[in-house]
Order: sequence, then C-alpha cells, then structure tokens
Amino acid sequence: MISASPTQTKRYTDLRSFLQRRFGCRVHKITLDAHFTCPNLDGSKAIGGCIFCHQGSGHSTLGALSVAEQLERGKTYLRRRHKAERFLAYFQRYTNTYAPVETLRHLYDKALAVEDVVGLVVGTRPDCVPDPVLDLLQGYARRTYVAVEYGLQSIHDRTLERVNRAHGAAEFVDAVHRTAGRGIHTCAHVMLGLPGETRADMLATAQAIAALPLDGIKIHLTYVLKHTVLGDMYLQGQYRPMEITEYVETVCDVLERLPPGMVIHRLTGDPPRDLLLAPQWALHKWQVLNAIDAELIRRESFQGRQWTREQTRNL
Ligand code: SF4
Repeated sequence: MISASPTQTKRYTDLRSFLQRRFGCRVHKITLDAHFTCPNLDGSKAIGGCIFCHQGSGHSTLGALSVAEQLERGKTYLRRRHKAERFLAYFQRYTNTYAPVETLRHLYDKALAVEDVVGLVVGTRPDCVPDPVLDLLQGYARRTYVAVEYGLQSIHDRTLERVNRAHGAAEFVDAVHRTAGRGIHTCAHVMLGLPGETRADMLATAQAIAALPLDGIKIHLTYVLKHTVLGDMYLQGQYRPMEITEYVETVCDVLERLPPGMVIHRLTGDPPRDLLLAPQWALHKWQVLNAIDAELIRRESFQGRQWTREQTRNL
C-alpha cells in the first residue's frame, strides 16, 4: 500500500482521506444551485457555451429552493446515506463568482450560517475572479475552509478555442497565481478526451498543472450529452469518445506526473443517465475507479512517480 497517512488507502491522495485528515470526521460536499449564469452563455464573453455544456455543469432540480434549504436537504440525505458529520457548501452550477461582490457575500454568508457547514467550495471560470472576489474568499479562508475550483479543461489554447471556452490558458495561469498565498485551496478541472487532443496533449496539461501552485485537481472524462454541440458532432461521426482502457491508462499517466500531495478531487465523470449519448461505460463509475486502482497496482505505480521538483522547475 502506498500511503502517507493511516486514513489514506489509495495510491493517490484522494479527497475523502484529505477531508478526513483536515476535519477529523466525515465531511461531504453538498451541491448547490444559487441561480448564477455564465459569461459564456449570456453573451458577455460568448454565446452557446462550451461545446460539451448542457447549460451548466450538473443537472439541477434544486433551483426553486434557497441555499439554506438546499443545504438542509443535502444534510439529511448525506447523513442517512453516508453517515456524514460535517458539510461543505459547494456552489457548483454555472459560474459561482459571476455576480457583484455584495451578492456573493450574501450567498456565501447564508451558506456558512447553516449548522454543521464547515466550509465553502466555489466552482468558477478563471476569467471571473477579479481581485475583490479573491479578497472576499480570502476573508472567509481566515476563519474556515475555502476551496475555489477553476475550470481549465486543457492547457492548449487551440483546444480551448475548439471547445468554445471563451478564455485562454493564460487567464487560468494568472488566476491561479493571484489565488496562491491567500489560504484558499485551489483546484483545477481538466478533461481527458477533448476533441482533437492526443495523449501527449493531455499529459502536457498534467505537467502544466503540476508546475503551478495548485492544491488539487479534478479529472473529468469527456462524455457526450444530448442537446449539445458535442452531441451533434458525435452523431455526425466527427467525435469519438475515449474507450475505457484508453481512459484508465491516461488517468494513470496523469497521476504519475502530478505532485504526490496534490489532492485528487475526482477521477472520472458522473453523467446524467437520461442525457448521455456516449460512452455508456461512463455510467459505471465504480468500475472505472476500480480499473484505475488495478492499473496502478499492475504498474506498481502511484501518484507522483514521474514527478520531480527539478522537472517542474524546467517546464
Ligand atoms: S464555463 Fe461552465 S457553465 Fe459556462 S458554458 Fe462552459 S461548462 Fe457551461
């Protein structure tokens, strides 16, 4: 077993173990829909959104409830289902810093006022974090756990353009550097299997992530949903999703290139069954996670095996 801690049972630094160590109990995230939108959907940066986006990551039926009501509902479910003891308010849907600072303060205060909520997790785009927003998050981080999750997806501008992200890699790098040193846990989202990307492209993204002052990474499978541009490309034979073996091998290659202590928030996608076009294996999350564990064991490998500080400095 490759384990830096008695609470860690994986060959990588998994989020569950990290939160257990950080809080000393079972902590789960509660996904929230706080009625944000996205500058890539409302026309301020672009229209149409990312080609894989089904109008915001996550598929919500929560929108009618207040933030506090959503948290209470999530607490009840997670206590019963997972014996969760404490909770993180996860502002996930759309772009959760895309509002005036006072609006954000009001929403985040409401979340933190709920009993047993011990922190904030804020998903956003790297072009939506002006310094006053980071100052606000830093203020919370002085007294509680705060994580910000930046959607990057790929370090290659040609890919970002192809998928209509409406921001470049430079904006991501700038946001990460402006967030560093503020006491905020900073996490990057990347996607494997984006259109036109080779395995070498994906590993270059991993190496770029490894070289930045980031605390965590979320690795997503690119899956194809109905009613998206990527869905149309798939139906017209212009896009082929990754095979499970290809995905598992690439995830392991990525893990080997990341710093050993970087927290792995996610290793695959979790698509909505009713909207999924392909690949169907994406529905079997535990099969994918088990295959990743098995591949790391087969390789006698682990997170950080191919990472060195020297390599990082040379990038
Ligand atoms: S940035 Fe997020 S919410 Fe906005 S279009 Fe892209 S995937 Fe959708």
